[in-house]
Amino acid sequence: MRRKMVAGNWKMHGNLLENKPLLNAIVTNLNGLQEVSFLVCVPYLYLPSVQDTLRNTNIAWGAQNVSQYEKGPYTGEISALMLNDFECGYVIVGHSERRTLFGEDNRTVSEKYQAAQRAGITPILCVGETLEQREAGTTEQVIEEQIASVIKLAGIKSLANAIIAYEPLWAIGTGRTALPEQAQDIHSFIREGLAKQDANIAKDLTILYGGSVKSNNASELFDMPDIDGGLIGGASLIAADFVAICRALHQ
Ligand code: PEP
Repeated sequence: MRRKMVAGNWKMHGNLLENKPLLNAIVTNLNGLQEVSFLVCVPYLYLPSVQDTLRNTNIAWGAQNVSQYEKGPYTGEISALMLNDFECGYVIVGHSERRTLFGEDNRTVSEKYQAAQRAGITPILCVGETLEQREAGTTEQVIEEQIASVIKLAGIKSLANAIIAYEPLWAIGTGRTALPEQAQDIHSFIREGLAKQDANIAKDLTILYGGSVKSNNASELFDMPDIDGGLIGGASLIAADFVAICRALHQ
């Protein structure tokens, strides 16, 4: 069954002092809400303390990146098996910041996706187009290629244990959100494209929207039939905002 979800992406923010009150406020305010999955993806170093704080709550935790390799001489990398040590249920792969700032191409992202799944961790596969690509009319082609690369490596059935996040680059951290209809168009393009390969996989796939989702625009986005929730950057660092977005989906 398709699961609704709000996932926070803290990016490279947070510290030991501030994480605790942020998480405590989220836990308290979302306590008992069961129909939606809530998740925070935090910097690696904070996983142990986040795990301690969130264990036995309805908030899951995950990482923002993972190595494509299982182990070996890869200085500075973190493997999926290491994430398992901290009971990460999810990991973001292919975030546009990883693709553009750290040179991750479709092949690398697909390998990371597969590495996560091999360790039993659900990858949140980010896809999306730049402003130039949108203006050039290649949005659908770009997204199709990003998803096709993963399917080529891991197979269509792998999407039964994955989440896709559509994040147009021009909307991330810019305060410029896609119109609900614009986002819906791409979400339904993704779902319909996958349905041609496997109708059940497509029907049950959770597809999140990400890109400047705030408490004042979350409801209209979440009302769209193919938007199953959000991947939230900036607003996930402010408890009241994140909680309001989570509640907008829970309604
Ligand atoms: C993100 O980092 O995935 C994101 C969507 O950021 P923001 O909500 O700040 O645009």
